[in-house]
Amino acid sequence: MNTKQDFFTRKKEELAVVLNDVQLAAVRHTEGPLLLLASPGSGKTTTVIMRIAYLIEEKGVAPSRIKAITFSRAAANDMKDRFRKFFPYLQPVDFSTIHSLAFELVRAYFRKVNMPFRLIEGDADMQFHKKTILRNLYKSTSGVNITEDQLEELMTYISYIKNKMVPSEKWASVATEVPGAERILMQYEAFKRTGTGQLLLDFDDMLTKANEILQKDADLRRMYQERYDYVLTDESQDTSMVQHVIVEKLVQVHQNLCVVADDDQSIYSWRGAESAYLLNFKKVYPDAKILYMEQNYRSSQEIVTAANQFIKRNKHRYDKNMFTENPAAGPIRFVRLPDYKYQAKYLAQNIGLLENFFETAVLYRNNTSSIALINEFDRAGIPFYMKDADNRFFSHWVVQDILNMMRLTFTDKRADILEQVHSKLNGYITKQQLEAVKRIRNNKSVFDNLIQYAPLKAYQKKQILEVKETLRQMNGMPPLDAIKVIRGRLGYEKALENLCKKFGFRKDYLIGILNTLEEIADTLSTMEEFAARLKHLEQVLKMAKLKKGKNAVTLSTFHNSKGLEFENVYMIDLVEGIIPGSDEKEDELLMEESVRLFYVAMTRAKKSLEMVSYEKRNGNQMMDSRFVSAIKKIVSGRKKTTRTGSVERKVKMVGLGKDTAEIPYNPNAIKDVSAFTVGKKVKHRVFGHGEILSVDGDTLEIRFEKRVVKLSAVTCLKMGLLEEVDKL
Ligand code: ATP
Ligand code: MG
Repeated sequence: MNTKQDFFTRKKEELAVVLNDVQLAAVRHTEGPLLLLASPGSGKTTTVIMRIAYLIEEKGVAPSRIKAITFSRAAANDMKDRFRKFFPYLQPVDFSTIHSLAFELVRAYFRKVNMPFRLIEGDADMQFHKKTILRNLYKSTSGVNITEDQLEELMTYISYIKNKMVPSEKWASVATEVPGAERILMQYEAFKRTGTGQLLLDFDDMLTKANEILQKDADLRRMYQERYDYVLTDESQDTSMVQHVIVEKLVQVHQNLCVVADDDQSIYSWRGAESAYLLNFKKVYPDAKILYMEQNYRSSQEIVTAANQFIKRNKHRYDKNMFTENPAAGPIRFVRLPDYKYQAKYLAQNIGLLENFFETAVLYRNNTSSIALINEFDRAGIPFYMKDADNRFFSHWVVQDILNMMRLTFTDKRADILEQVHSKLNGYITKQQLEAVKRIRNNKSVFDNLIQYAPLKAYQKKQILEVKETLRQMNGMPPLDAIKVIRGRLGYEKALENLCKKFGFRKDYLIGILNTLEEIADTLSTMEEFAARLKHLEQVLKMAKLKKGKNAVTLSTFHNSKGLEFENVYMIDLVEGIIPGSDEKEDELLMEESVRLFYVAMTRAKKSLEMVSYEKRNGNQMMDSRFVSAIKKIVSGRKKTTRTGSVERKVKMVGLGKDTAEIPYNPNAIKDVSAFTVGKKVKHRVFGHGEILSVDGDTLEIRFEKRVVKLSAVTCLKMGLLEEVDKL
């Protein structure tokens, strides 16, 4: 008998982690192919990490012989962190993306054949950047500039084709809204080969090339096959076809492959992810062992039950029954705000009250949601972390337009500033008209020069004089008022509408940018402050990337929250048109992906999950996401059949204006504003016992055990947050 203590007993003592039977089986099954299909929070990533340690400690495998492939660089870092936390004494293995492996292979190959190549994505030189090349090709085929949205769409189209390995004769059958996409792709491929002195490769090409190299170069293939004895892939539901076949080739000889996946969390099919591959796993690896895990260790009873019911609305899936032995932790909360414009403030207010920001995340579908949030969080002094901070907002042409128009209120002598916005103001000054005055240096208003020297249409004169006068009046105006004048009286919003008609821009999106600018401008007194504030926020956003692991709230898209977990999760913007998106309503498969995305987001929460929607946005009536309605229905249906009989009631609060929230009914809550008097002892749902220090209009100042907090009296009444202590 081996006197050495069993690995698992040791781990139990060292880490207090007790693996369940399936997890144990997955860790022990080191030789040969293994597919671990499991629900969110069931310990897939944990199992992968334990398995790596098991290989090293028990099987004596050198860490350098193990390769753990992750979906993204961020996921690789997360896994590395988790590994270090568990096994600080072990040398970490190679956690990286398949792209980095492909890059090594491609580099080795081109060195060998002595052929230079250049990457055109990531940190690539703008001159040779994929985006620049595509922009140029689009312009030369269609005569007009491609919009940012169309460029994104075009890149998705290309990625999809490359990742799915669609042969060129079928490119035309891949759906896209970009006109002439197929032709542009043909030209793009040709340009990369012959357009410059060297071969150009984008990230997808690295995969395609790596696969080709493994196919045709026997030496390199052998070298890479011999490099690793064990390969593991996490989040494999989002692995694409070309990635799967690279992995196949890599493990061909030993077949020591552990694939971990959850088909219900597949959220990248639009980019060519191939979760159906997992269904055929046995065809590719006939000896594969397949294991299933359904117990969730992450989330509360309430969250697991609701999520499990919710995902069943999808038809194209392996049926599973996720369950948990975790205790209940309070119901899922639903908050419906009267208007979108309160959302960021609402979150800043609520999250600002939390003791600990680290375990809190705000999740949204679209990156654009983040700007309003960072504005409010920055104002409220709440630190936040964003892994995918997107600075594009600040350089967006709508933002630049507004800044340029503001500049014109300081001086209208600069034709170069007017040149940036001339066609987007009342009067619609044309390029030719502007050309006529551009070089005049007489230190006069460019508008006067236009009237004097440019060939204007009769109706333009009056409008241009009006623009000039409006800009003059705007001098010194607070920025919020200035933006309103720009949108209205100066005709900017009308101009945007025309641009949308002409170029197919999304109007909602552009108007959304203007509204966000108004939110940022709110409370600022000068346009200089406004410009400085934008600069500041841009900087804050850059810094937000560095706050990982700090005491900061995580702001993330649903997509990028994959694999992560937090005590408290706020899912926001839960309205029809955003999730599901408008184009998803028509298409069953897209709709199912939207359901999965919602499911991924909600299963990030350990204890507290809040779903936020609103009734109005930009003056339009909004409908709650059908997914929110579905969860509400699941939750209320379950209440009726609760075995214990201790049914939590949910009531709609009435009598205080609009119903904005549904929260657990508290029969003891203070219901009348007259009960808020100085010196009154109260108990708060979150903060515990306290005493009212002051009452000033709607503001209650209360000293709780840990700190003094200001609360809105109306909110406390509406949400039943405070109880009278004397009465208890
Ligand atoms: P996702 O699908 O979201 O990526 P996952 O399946 O990878 O989730 P993990 O992140 O590995 O799940 O684990 C979720 C949580 O459950 C973690 O906090 C982990 O520590 C805990 N956990 C996993 N297995 C066990 C176990 N056997 N006992 C107790 N806790 C566990
Ligand atoms: Mg995981």
